[in-house]
Amino acid sequence: MKSVILLSALTLATTVAASAQEKKEYPKPEGMRPAMTEFWTPQPKVVTPGDIATNSAPSDAVVLFDGKDLSAWTSSGNGGPAEWDVHDGVFTVNKKKGDIQTRESFGSFQLHIEWQVPENITGSSQSRGNSGIFLQNKYEIQILDCYQNETYANGQTGSVYKQVIPLANAMRKPGEWNVYDIIYNAPVFNEDGTYKVNPTVTVIQNGIVLLNNFTIRGTTEYIGHPRVEKHGDGPIKLQSHGDPSEPINFRNIWLRKL
Ligand code: MG
Repeated sequence: MKSVILLSALTLATTVAASAQEKKEYPKPEGMRPAMTEFWTPQPKVVTPGDIATNSAPSDAVVLFDGKDLSAWTSSGNGGPAEWDVHDGVFTVNKKKGDIQTRESFGSFQLHIEWQVPENITGSSQSRGNSGIFLQNKYEIQILDCYQNETYANGQTGSVYKQVIPLANAMRKPGEWNVYDIIYNAPVFNEDGTYKVNPTVTVIQNGIVLLNNFTIRGTTEYIGHPRVEKHGDGPIKLQSHGDPSEPINFRNIWLRKL
């Protein structure tokens, strides 16, 4: 008899406790279906790639040189016409005429540019096919004949000059064409002129990555450290270097704004 009473009391206590703990029911999250993570808009704009056979620019590119003339360029020194030598669908640096730069200014971009060291090149280290591409007129991506030609490592082809050693030496030999594809993100500045977001750059030469999203520290300086200088959009400048070696050639230059 005693055990029956004890069992009944235990059953009652369990029932009371269970009902006290009974949870309120809320709607359960819907199970994931594939379509829930598939977005259809906005669709990327259609860009027609350049033709492989004719090496033409993509449909949305700003063509900076297509073999005909230097109308997209101006002399950096006096703002007059760019006076480098156009011939045979290419142009050659004229060291007597100084640097040239695009008439248009740019922010972030993807740049395609081809360059050739002449077969008869002479000189060594920095005095051998030296030129360069100044991004926004401030930051030089070095051009140099580094084919079996050693120089200081942070000044070789594909460096942000004197700031970084490229990940590879991807030079083709003199007489052959080199291809640069450069992806550049312009900086954002604080009010006081310091970088809020540094400029960054990726450089690919002949399909080989030389710089992988490198953080640029400041302006390119021959003597001394990089400086931080507040600026907006800027032109692309090509360097007429003062070394006595034979001038290099350029062709097929286009840019896509990013
Ligand atoms: Mg240079």
